[in-house]
Amino acid sequence: MSWRDYDCLNIPLKSSVQMKNKYSITSDILSFQLCRRQYGFFGVRGYQPAHVVQYWYGTILHQVLDKLHMHYQGLLDESTVERIPTDEEVEIYFNAVDDSLRARGIRAINSSLRKTAINVLKIFNALEGPKLYPNVIDTECDLQSDQGNYILHGVVDLLKEISMAKYTKDYDKVEIWDYKGTKFPDLSIKYGQEKLDRYVFQMLVYAELYKLKNGKYPLKGKLYFMNELFGNSNANETPPEAVYVVEFRDRDINEKINSALNLFSNTVTEIESNLKYDRWDPPEQQPDKETCDICDLRWNCSALTKKYPMRYP
Ligand code: SF4
Repeated sequence: MSWRDYDCLNIPLKSSVQMKNKYSITSDILSFQLCRRQYGFFGVRGYQPAHVVQYWYGTILHQVLDKLHMHYQGLLDESTVERIPTDEEVEIYFNAVDDSLRARGIRAINSSLRKTAINVLKIFNALEGPKLYPNVIDTECDLQSDQGNYILHGVVDLLKEISMAKYTKDYDKVEIWDYKGTKFPDLSIKYGQEKLDRYVFQMLVYAELYKLKNGKYPLKGKLYFMNELFGNSNANETPPEAVYVVEFRDRDINEKINSALNLFSNTVTEIESNLKYDRWDPPEQQPDKETCDICDLRWNCSALTKKYPMRYP
């Protein structure tokens, strides 16, 4: 038999499968909304920022908190089940996480930031641990949903059972928590309310993702602003600014969630049109000063109303 015997064979080509992009609520949508240029350079093109200070702080808080929850559940060592970690144990977990971040080149910019992070974690553990840890249902919950042309993705820091809540047939007796490694936004300054609105938007999207997985909305969302604990003189009470509650048991909840999902989808469309040409222009409006102050693009950015003075070595 020669190869010519197969000449008339007609084998249909495999149709190419279009891969869907996955968009995370925090690292894509909120980052792009904050500044599309910064998102494009660091999030898409992968440039390495000179200082990853913000990333170090947020990551170490989240990872140590996760270890504290695991400690209470006895997942790291059975003997610690239902026992609140001591200050020494918080420090041991902190050092272990810090070492692993340092091995990846992510470190604190100075020792005072390191001290702030340890201090905040110890206060949180002592103040919130006894009320919170026994009611934790799950941590670092990966939630996603197929939105047709893309995948919507989010990681909820914590799910807490609220057993005392009255029975409601349309809601789970659950709170979703998100830890923020910052203070509560200052609403008296220009960008404060915008920042808070973005966090609320994030919680509304999480509520929808939760419902898609569990069939009902959670009752509440809680934003916990960890840096409100720093220097807290009253170690027995949660400072009022540390917690911001988003009530999902609201008669306009469907409308609010739909508009959050629309905003998510419009942002995806904008990201994809920028991705097509790899074009990341400065935003029309400068983001908050905190964001620009630590951005490596600040020396040459037309969005800024005031130039940063050049520093020579
Ligand atoms: S300096 Fe500010 S506006 Fe310019 S890219 Fe950086 S974060 Fe965006």
